[in-house]
Amino acid sequence: MAFSGLDIYKLLPKTNCRECGFVTCLAFAMQLAKKAVSIDKCPYLSEEAKRVLEASSQPPIKLVNIGEGDNKLEVGNETVLFRHEEKFYHPTAVGFIIEDSLSVDEIKHRLERINKLKFERVGQELNVNLVAVRHTSDKKKFIEAIQTVLNNTPLALVLMSDEPEALKEALKITAQRRPLIYHATKDNAGQFSKLAQEFKVPVVASSSDLETLSGLTRELNNQGVNDIILDTGVKPVKDKIWDLTQERRQALKKSNRSLGYPTLVIIDAKDPYEEVMEAATYISKYASIVLMRGIEAWQVLSLLTLRQNIYTDPQKPLQIEPKLYSVGAVSSKSPVLVTTNFSLTYYTVLGEVEASKVPSYIVSVDTEGMSVLTAWAAEKFTPEKISDSINKFVVKDTVSHMRLIIPGYVAVMSGDLEDKSGWQVVVGPKEASGIPSFLKNL
Ligand code: SF4
Repeated sequence: MAFSGLDIYKLLPKTNCRECGFVTCLAFAMQLAKKAVSIDKCPYLSEEAKRVLEASSQPPIKLVNIGEGDNKLEVGNETVLFRHEEKFYHPTAVGFIIEDSLSVDEIKHRLERINKLKFERVGQELNVNLVAVRHTSDKKKFIEAIQTVLNNTPLALVLMSDEPEALKEALKITAQRRPLIYHATKDNAGQFSKLAQEFKVPVVASSSDLETLSGLTRELNNQGVNDIILDTGVKPVKDKIWDLTQERRQALKKSNRSLGYPTLVIIDAKDPYEEVMEAATYISKYASIVLMRGIEAWQVLSLLTLRQNIYTDPQKPLQIEPKLYSVGAVSSKSPVLVTTNFSLTYYTVLGEVEASKVPSYIVSVDTEGMSVLTAWAAEKFTPEKISDSINKFVVKDTVSHMRLIIPGYVAVMSGDLEDKSGWQVVVGPKEASGIPSFLKNL
């Protein structure tokens, strides 16, 4: 937990010797609390004070890296229980379990489909993150499956086996991809910590109860392993939510370092709808990694859309650059539609204009990322703002007419906008879904 300036002051020598460059120890403590200086500036700190202050400057939930290069993943380092308190930082990694009992061709086919799970939504690319190979056959099949995965996907890897010997063989061919290894238990912690250290890879620590899990992470720490992911096994949803919430609360509210790690959940539901519902529940609260079997696009798109919404900054709505956009083979006669720069609004309008097949211009007004009605109510989408935007983007030099189409919900401003801008205002449909027929009949 981060210390306040006064908490830090209590640990300082309080001699006001000024060697740190500050007039008093209190002034130094205040700067330290803001992370504006380093503790090394005070040469008189006791070892105990150093240890406490260094520990307090560590994030309450450790940041763990999995994978390398473009597909490197960062999980953990979250700072709040509730998104509205600040924001969530590292989106839940979504991955897929492949059993080594499948044939090479079946594995290749699944990987081909997994590699295609990329979507674009409100101007952002949504991707999946991991492939987990589960050891259910013999060692040879496990290694063969891993080799197939290595050769056919760039995604980060999870190696799942209860046999440290099989994992060692697997790590020899995958270590450069820094896979996550699954899973150390209280019975095999020594063997897994050796593997984690030898190959410099993160490790999943598993126990069905939190007390044992906490002891297990301490044991791994004592053996030199610090990149740990927590797992409490497959459980009914309510029990799993309890575990995930307790882990997060213990780390953030109780400064319990032994549970201050990212978390992993394996979805075991057979029904594809249940699988999505479970995964959505854990993405909402508080899984860092979700591994599932289903690879249908409808399943994955729902989850990635949910993830995108949860991991945006609640104080900063997704925005696009305010400017004049052209859609299709526009000409000087093309209609000009006005909307806001809230990404969801803009991309919804864009989609409908594209669907209409009527080449058009869209003026995106800077409403600080607010949607039409919210911006209008907050006086960010006003006749003045719209007039300023069409002047700034010199729309009159782009088209040969002076006709603007505004959203139907703000029809009330049409007269005022005509007076302010000198453009004729046409009131468009209230809902974006009405745009195609509106444009075709214009
Ligand atoms: S160097 Fe240390 S003891 Fe001296 S004023 Fe700064 S904080 Fe206080």
